Amino acid sequence: MMSHCLLFSGRESSQARNAPRVDKLLKLADSDSVGQTPFLAAANARRDAVTELLRELVHTPSLSTDERDVVHRLAAQMEDLGYDEVVLDPLGSVIGRIGNGPVTIVMDAHVDTVGVGSRDEWSHDPFEPVLADGVVYGRGACDDKGGMASMVFGAALARELGVLPEAVTLYVVGSVQEEECDGLALEHVLTKVLGRPDVVLLGESTNGKVFRGNRGRIEVLVRTRGSSCHASAPDLGHNPVYDLAGIITDVEALNGRLGYDEFLGAGTVALTKIECETPSLNAVPGSATIYLDRRLTLGEDPDAALKEIAALASVQAVGGTVELLRYERNSFTGTALVQDKAFGTWVTPEAAAPVRAGLATVERALGRPAPATGHWVFSTNGVASMGKLGIPTVGFGPGDERYAHTVAEQCPVADLVDAMAFYAAFPAEFVASRPEPAEAS
Ligand SMILES: [Zn+2]
Repeated sequence: MMSHCLLFSGRESSQARNAPRVDKLLKLADSDSVGQTPFLAAANARRDAVTELLRELVHTPSLSTDERDVVHRLAAQMEDLGYDEVVLDPLGSVIGRIGNGPVTIVMDAHVDTVGVGSRDEWSHDPFEPVLADGVVYGRGACDDKGGMASMVFGAALARELGVLPEAVTLYVVGSVQEEECDGLALEHVLTKVLGRPDVVLLGESTNGKVFRGNRGRIEVLVRTRGSSCHASAPDLGHNPVYDLAGIITDVEALNGRLGYDEFLGAGTVALTKIECETPSLNAVPGSATIYLDRRLTLGEDPDAALKEIAALASVQAVGGTVELLRYERNSFTGTALVQDKAFGTWVTPEAAAPVRAGLATVERALGRPAPATGHWVFSTNGVASMGKLGIPTVGFGPGDERYAHTVAEQCPVADLVDAMAFYAAFPAEFVASRPEPAEAS
């Protein structure tokens, strides 16, 4: 099982072993909460607690590689809620376990956030959460601290309600450094800390839907080299910035003819940064670089996308170099991490057990028909769990991804409640959705 930095180990609760059946529970609750499932009724009773936890998480800044305080806050919450075991892994991700069965479910939300950009653009302090009209505002409110707060309570609720099947080991993971290198920390958890799970459920915002994929991506630089000289006599040198002009035009045109997939949409490319190396503002620069964010739809792969950029006529004409970027940072625990910035596209098929379980969970837990499945526009830890490791991955999380990384970042409290109910109900639906194990002969 888990072997790193044991923070806490509880006893298996007898409540889990003597769990009443879901159907019985549903009948019980029908009588006392009209129009509300027992999952929603129980989640609603924890509305203030989950809101308070989210506010505390927002109030605890946790930029990538600086997540120490927030993971300790989460570990304490898991212990309070009676998790069986809580550990930090070598990268600093927090992992809580409930149950001890052969079917392994990993629920993951990342605990780091992006920065705040220009403070002047915010109408309030991004780390002083505001609760107004049932909505929590602040950095990380939906990306991804809302999902995290709901998961921590929702997983505990599964056991409290007696609906966590005995067959299940449920892990709740608060992973680090997702915003800088999606998938890196979760991959470590899934390959180095835990055994391979049967399913991964992500808590990134899905706006009430079950999501089952996102585009992959690469980060690339294109560099041109010139020869520097005094700016008063530019003819004596060669200006590499002018060489970029044609490349930029080609990149913009490339964006219009990339791959397309019915479910994930089109591949895209965006120029995200431009810089040059120059001795002074009165000198012709010696080299110039652009950075590209290339999103890969289904059918596109990192190698081919890199070669496609290198093959642009303008790049060839000036002998530009094209390089895949590398991520190199230390985690807050001091672990050195290095990874190419190439992230695989992933889609979990609509007919797969976890997707069916997700849709059934919406109906069972929230008491409403499940809308059609969707996908994230941004990237998630699914690039590792499904994109790289092939572990079926789905998502359900509070909030709407269009507010992620914005100065209006927000999460409705009603979504936190729905997500808690969803996470409490998912394990039983997942077990029920799996094909029967083959009879031993
Ligand atoms: Zn996120």
